[in-house]
Amino acid sequence: MKPTNPVFTGINTTVFETMSRLAMAHGAVNLGQGFPDVDGPADVRQVAAKALIDGPNQYPPMLGIPELRQAVADADKRFYGLEIDPQKEVLVTSGATEALADCIFALVSPGDEVVLIEPLYDCYLPLVKQAGGVPVRVRVTPPHWDLDPDALRAAFSEKTKAILINNPMNPTAKVFTESELQLVADLCREHDVYAICDEVYEHLVFDNQKHRPLMAFEDMRERTVRIGSAGKTFSLTGWKVGYVTGPANLMDPISKAHQWVTFTTPPNLQKAVAYGLSKDESYYTGLANELMAKRDRMARALSGLGFSVLPCAATYFLTCGIEGLNLGANDVEACEVLVKEAGVAAVPVSAFYGDDAPTSFIRFCFCKRDEVIDEAMSRLQGFLTATNSESA
Ligand code: PMP
Ligand code: GLN
Repeated sequence: MKPTNPVFTGINTTVFETMSRLAMAHGAVNLGQGFPDVDGPADVRQVAAKALIDGPNQYPPMLGIPELRQAVADADKRFYGLEIDPQKEVLVTSGATEALADCIFALVSPGDEVVLIEPLYDCYLPLVKQAGGVPVRVRVTPPHWDLDPDALRAAFSEKTKAILINNPMNPTAKVFTESELQLVADLCREHDVYAICDEVYEHLVFDNQKHRPLMAFEDMRERTVRIGSAGKTFSLTGWKVGYVTGPANLMDPISKAHQWVTFTTPPNLQKAVAYGLSKDESYYTGLANELMAKRDRMARALSGLGFSVLPCAATYFLTCGIEGLNLGANDVEACEVLVKEAGVAAVPVSAFYGDDAPTSFIRFCFCKRDEVIDEAMSRLQGFLTATNSESA
């Protein structure tokens, strides 16, 4: 038989699904895949429930229902001072994942180079490859995950079509600095490059920092598309409602990609997300503060257990060094040991690299109830104490 598409053939199931399956099989506390264990605001869910019963439950407009497109534009104005035309510059998608596929398929042609910053979210590489793009990877390195300006500069060339940047960044929990973003903007202008900005963690930023979209930098409005996710902003990851904003001339091909990928997104969920986006400031600060307290609770406990906990400025995730903990030869083995023997699932950070990955970091997700975090930490403590006394 003829071979199937090599981009999707013989590759691994995503590490998030794999770890969640293992967590279930072993009765482990799941700190692997990034999802909250408490559903988001009841009033938002109530709006969705009512819309489901009242209807209509038919195809909504392809670009998204007008209320949600307006709400996305209003939020961009309220939070970042961006002027977005809700008719021509907003597209609603079935999650940020679909938005990423639409943007990559619409902007990248075969042979185009796409700059990616590693560690990278796992769908980036296959999507760029499926578009025929040539990934050009630049690394940020722990503990602060600083972006080397020379390496970034060297990654841009005449062939560069786009940079795909995730800010705030999964799994590093890094917020790119003003000067790093300025350099990205300068290089995009210099080389006439589009910026695809995956900003799903825009509202999960801690310690009084504020998210600054690359789109808000001078002259970037015309060459940037910005992706958000209601899953993250409203702790409703299963809803898979995302949105893209960008200049009309880019949104046109992006919405054409969307029309052949999903075409539309459930109308009742869209209605509820529109309602959610208009929530006042206290909702957004409350969400960030709650998560920050969980970050601190877990970071303290993990440090006490001997993990080298890296700084975390945003997102759901703590990345930790595991050297000296006796958890196996590398991060993959460590996660296997932890899920099977300690009863706690984490994610190996090497899964966020194309090749030649560092192998001594694992990622824990902290958007869980306090008692769940405490249970996981106590399981880790029991396991590490037992292992260390055996090896002593
Ligand atoms: N980008 C990043 C960086 C993510 O961590 C995730 C995971 N939630 C997504 C995109 C996908 O978001 P969604 O669930 O809205 O498709
Ligand atoms: N973004 C989530 C994470 O990093 C996972 C989403 C997914 O499983 N596709 O854990």
